[in-house]
Amino acid sequence: ATFGTLSDRLAETFKNLRKKGTLSASDIDGTVREIRRALIDADVAFDVVKEFTSRIRERALGDEVSKALNPAQQVVQIVNDELISILGGEQRRLEFAKTPPTVIMLAGLQGAGKTTLAGKLAQWLAKDGHTPLLVACDLQRPNAVTQLSVVAEQAGASIFAPEPGNGVGDPVRVAKDSIKHARDKQYDTVIIDTAGRLGVDAELMKQAANIRKAVDPDEVLFVIDAMIGQDAVATAKAFQDGVDFTGVVLSKLDGDARGGAALSVASVTGRPIMFASTGEGLGDFEPFHPDRMASRILDLGDILTLIEQAQQAFDEEEARQVAEKFATDTFTLDDFLKQMQQLRNMGSIKKMMGMLPGMAQQRDQLDNFDEKEIVRTEAIIQSMTRAERTNPKVLNGSRRLRIARGSGSTVTDVNQLVNRFEQAAKMMKTVAKGGMPQIPGMGPV
Ligand code: GDP
Repeated sequence: ATFGTLSDRLAETFKNLRKKGTLSASDIDGTVREIRRALIDADVAFDVVKEFTSRIRERALGDEVSKALNPAQQVVQIVNDELISILGGEQRRLEFAKTPPTVIMLAGLQGAGKTTLAGKLAQWLAKDGHTPLLVACDLQRPNAVTQLSVVAEQAGASIFAPEPGNGVGDPVRVAKDSIKHARDKQYDTVIIDTAGRLGVDAELMKQAANIRKAVDPDEVLFVIDAMIGQDAVATAKAFQDGVDFTGVVLSKLDGDARGGAALSVASVTGRPIMFASTGEGLGDFEPFHPDRMASRILDLGDILTLIEQAQQAFDEEEARQVAEKFATDTFTLDDFLKQMQQLRNMGSIKKMMGMLPGMAQQRDQLDNFDEKEIVRTEAIIQSMTRAERTNPKVLNGSRRLRIARGSGSTVTDVNQLVNRFEQAAKMMKTVAKGGMPQIPGMGPV
């Protein structure tokens, strides 16, 4: 995972410190040297590394930090503070226009993840009660308009694009028209997807700059692929000079990028990282919190993000109803399926577990986690009739065979699912009645 190696190396550095009662100047120098090497190996821009480590050294040698902490804790605290600061300090939220529509323009290289981000933003905004309009201004890549309409549909948002077959089309014109359209049709946010090239190029910059001039966006988000490593700084600077932007979106943070882009871009451009993209699905997206990212890098855990995601996925009223169903023995396979789907909404389970403190060590095990299991279970339940879902007791041999065929699985799969459901229902019933659950083979929890 991104930052994996960096996290491990910093953890190692801190572990060595923990063995010492007091820190000498040479201990601190040694630590700073290790941190510097870890950052350089993570592809962090050299200037950023230099400034970062010199601040850490200066603060660790001075005695501003709390005497309540042991030497290792003091260093961790300093590194945490400084990480937050190079990641941009305070979280910066989207700025909305006083009179709608709010205009958000996306810029970046081809393949950076702009079109995907347009869908993610639209879905996220729609969830928050906004009415986003996606605008196709990438009229160069043959498939770009189609791709945008696909994500728009997934996000449940509308799209504005030139009529098909209307020739090449002028992106500046499309952008301008889209604002008028949004005003007429009462869309409150406009998200403009622009063309990218594989490398930085003058014509691309000019086109993006012209769109910017024409629509005067409230936000210009520069989307950058975290995997591009050392090139991140040059690319970001080129876009800053050519178009300029108000915020950065880091994409593909789920990959095995070493994290250098993330740690360099904000401090090199002076623009805040506003969002992080962590997968190909529209839900794989979150507002960026410098402090939480720092704790994640330092493996201090990211409980806050977990809680927030859990709150988004679970509805309190529904949770109460489910508890009641458990207690009264009326929990059905339909409810079971709903629960599972909610779990999926919480984002990849693997990713969630990665946010828990101390999980850095278990990364290998996490990589073996099979999320397809949930998809399989879904298929099986969806192949059942309403009556079967409500009362699984009617599931005889021929019904099970039919369900297996319908869901492309085997009777054994169906049997396993039914058994698991029955066990879960039994266990939850005990919990709902205030007892201790008994997990088979594990004794009381
Ligand atoms: P654009 O050319 O900037 O519009 O980039 P796209 O949105 O078309 O994305 C390029 C590719 O990267 C597509 O295959 C996306 O599915 C993929 N992609 C986009 N964002 C992410 C992300 O956060 N994580 C991963 N793993 N893939 C992503």
